[in-house]
Amino acid sequence: MSDSPKTMDDIVALCRRRGFIFQSSEIYGGINGFWDYGPLGTALKRNLKNAWWSDVVERELLGPDGEPIDIVGVDCTIIMNPKTWVASGHAGGFNDPMVDCRESKQRYRADHLVVLGRMAGDARLWAFVEGDDDARTRATKALCKYERIDAPGADHVLRPFTAISADERARCLGPAASEPGSLTEPRQFNLMFKTHCGALQDDDSMAYLRPETAQGIFANFWNVVDTSRVKIPFGIAQVGKAFRNEVTPRNFTFRSREFEQMEIEFFIHPSTAVEWYRWWRDWRFGWWQSIGLTSANLQLREHDRDELAHYAKNGAGTSDIEYRFPFTSPGYGELEGVAHRADFDLTQHANHCGKGEKMRYFDQARNERYFPHVVEPSAGADRGALALLCEAYTPDPSRPSGVVMRFHPRMAPIKAAVYPLTAKDGQPEIAERLYRELRRKHTIEFDEKQSIGKRYARMDEAGTPYCFTIDGETASTGSVTVRHRDTLQQERVAIDQVPTWLDERLGTA
Ligand code: ATP
Repeated sequence: MSDSPKTMDDIVALCRRRGFIFQSSEIYGGINGFWDYGPLGTALKRNLKNAWWSDVVERELLGPDGEPIDIVGVDCTIIMNPKTWVASGHAGGFNDPMVDCRESKQRYRADHLVVLGRMAGDARLWAFVEGDDDARTRATKALCKYERIDAPGADHVLRPFTAISADERARCLGPAASEPGSLTEPRQFNLMFKTHCGALQDDDSMAYLRPETAQGIFANFWNVVDTSRVKIPFGIAQVGKAFRNEVTPRNFTFRSREFEQMEIEFFIHPSTAVEWYRWWRDWRFGWWQSIGLTSANLQLREHDRDELAHYAKNGAGTSDIEYRFPFTSPGYGELEGVAHRADFDLTQHANHCGKGEKMRYFDQARNERYFPHVVEPSAGADRGALALLCEAYTPDPSRPSGVVMRFHPRMAPIKAAVYPLTAKDGQPEIAERLYRELRRKHTIEFDEKQSIGKRYARMDEAGTPYCFTIDGETASTGSVTVRHRDTLQQERVAIDQVPTWLDERLGTA
């Protein structure tokens, strides 16, 4: 195994080549911020979402006191009554400050821009998008050329664009501009996509595509309480699409305009917020590790008090589960946020729908009426799939493919391959029988063409953990070889034991 670095370009190229991820509408030149999943990518993302749903909603989950906890699912619409977004604060406040370049007509998120140069005097300054190494190199070169120096000195600093003054902005050159002073001051920009329902396109028919799945859960809280047997503490889970008209979509699928979320709203008595918040934070962190994000690239980061959302200040807090992607390194990017949202959302909806205090929950066990507090673990399926891809990607020049995708078996798009070594001696027939048997339960690959080396190489790139090969010995000994993807070790297994052998390794026995 080599220590060659993983680069995002290589990962994106493999995703394209092997059909994990394509640009949306690629034949028309794509569309910025939208991505399609090909066969392998779809299987990977589905395995991720299924594992989440299964572990959160379907299987028994024991809470902090060792008792099983109740979580039920909902599946809500993408378009909701627009009043939802007024109540949630999105219609008024779901804004990112942004900056327009008057010269290049490009638009940037203000908090993504950094400025390089000497702040004192009237020196020229260069702005570029943080994390874009090429742009940073270009800005540094331009600065050196302009000031006729070899390298920036101690008085050249990096400063967030949001922290510079109007005078400094006037001296600042935009990332795609040729003259300074073309960047506007940061302005608010609503990230929700708008559409119209019905034939008339007026203000009354305006609606939004949901920017998060959470509000469908909150708006249905009372329906779920009335129609199922849940009692506090309990959770409602949802997986579904969300849309944000991100100003600068970038870093592959990490910041897309259409993406999928996996969200739980966990409703609790206010006095138990700290205990539940800590429990969810730790359980969710362990869950990501359990599906293969075991490296030091995964971290849990508790927010500082001044970073907390307005509703989380006095309670249990917020933490992010973050992954060090090749494009964020040495920094991290958020995979999931776990937040104590107090009773903010439920009281907002109760007040905006006009029923107010009447909508408080009645807790029989405590003989008390209250608006439950909420702990929200909110994860992104696309960022999760991207982290799994980055974690799995392992350059290995000793293999014909040059790379092996080391997915956790539960996440692997193809669980095993069955190959006849040669096309004679009845090997293809035996292989096909085994393939059919395994196929009843799992996604299995069967291939009798090409050299065995090439077939193994394809499975290394797809991240298939096991390859069973029917060879010359199979007919006489009744055994096949199994090749382990990560260690390249081969062992023989009795052919009639293969289904059990595989189930045991996949945890599906
Ligand atoms: P960021 O600060 O990176 O914009 P956020 O804090 O706004 O993210 P949340 O509103 O907490 O994100 O959304 C929950 C999860 O949804 C995130 O942890 C992330 O996994 C996912 N997510 C949010 N925005 C995007 C996006 N534009 N593209 C892909 N996934 C996203």
